Amino acid sequence: MNDATARVRLESMLSELDRSIGILRGDPASPRDRSAADAGSDLVDADRNQAMLEVAARHRRSVLEALRRIDDGCYGLCVDCGRSVPEGRLEARPEASRCVECQSRRERRR
Ligand SMILES: [Zn+2]
Repeated sequence: MNDATARVRLESMLSELDRSIGILRGDPASPRDRSAADAGSDLVDADRNQAMLEVAARHRRSVLEALRRIDDGCYGLCVDCGRSVPEGRLEARPEASRCVECQSRRERRR
């Protein structure tokens, strides 16, 4: 995947995330769909909302970082070991910043 393709995909992910974050925050400009939320209390709903918001915010940050790496000309290289991230991984996750080994090493450390 070349940088231009990656940028287009990342930018569309970014606007998608912005939209979801707006909905999760209860932005009045993007009314929430209440039909799926009729079960469960408002409290549970708010907790789940908060969790989803955190996931979306984290994802948004990694998308922004990937866009910055495109600007810096180091997109597609693992930020830890500097080897190129496999094409298939970038296809699945264009915002991936690490190769599989470095990512799993990092996740084990947590
Ligand atoms: Zn690596």
